[in-house]
Amino acid sequence: MKKMPRLLNDLLGLFYPELCVTCGERLISQEKYVCMRCWSDLPVTNFHFEPDNKVAQLFWGRTKVEYAVSFYLFRKGSKYQKLIHFLKYEGLKELGYEAGVRFGNRLANSPEFQSVDLIVPVPLHKRKLRKRGYNQSEWIARGLSESLGKPVSTENLYRKTFTSTQTQKNRIERWQNVKDVFGVNQPEEFSEKHILLVDDVVTTGATLEACATQLLEIEKAKVSIATLAFADV
Ligand SMILES: [Zn+2]
Repeated sequence: MKKMPRLLNDLLGLFYPELCVTCGERLISQEKYVCMRCWSDLPVTNFHFEPDNKVAQLFWGRTKVEYAVSFYLFRKGSKYQKLIHFLKYEGLKELGYEAGVRFGNRLANSPEFQSVDLIVPVPLHKRKLRKRGYNQSEWIARGLSESLGKPVSTENLYRKTFTSTQTQKNRIERWQNVKDVFGVNQPEEFSEKHILLVDDVVTTGATLEACATQLLEIEKAKVSIATLAFADV
């Protein structure tokens, strides 16, 4: 991304001050998208210290996941709901990167995540990708990659079919909706690899379960899961 000259940037800031997407306060220089106070108040889960955490429990009896973690707790109506909203629907993809870096810094010292070989974002269907212009999960994955020092793979796992919106469906309907929608172009690229699957928010886990199930068909592949937010409904 091309940087604006600093003077021009400062001048524009006088007229159009940049605001924190979560609390709406004016950002000071060095702060991007979210203010320091909102970052420090973020309701982090610290699930990486708790192997049997609520996200891991979502997958019990459904698919084999090594470790499952989320960065923070997402509650409807909380100011942090806006963070996801801006990331997904308002074009603030860099916010995904920024949050991913912070999340990765927390995971970097966990031995569980040091054994990860590849970071794989949940893919969007190409039609949706074209419409949105970017995959928000890929930006989170790129942030995680920065702080974990692990490569990102975006082309191998893909979404075969265009699924309708998930939000109005219950868990069974969601599962039927995502079953068999993912495919892997070159399974050998993932064989014997520990894959960290990344998504923005986990609610029922149906999409992640469908991805993980697909990946686990590959010889000796292992899957862990990291999402930016956990919607505890
Ligand atoms: Zn703020």
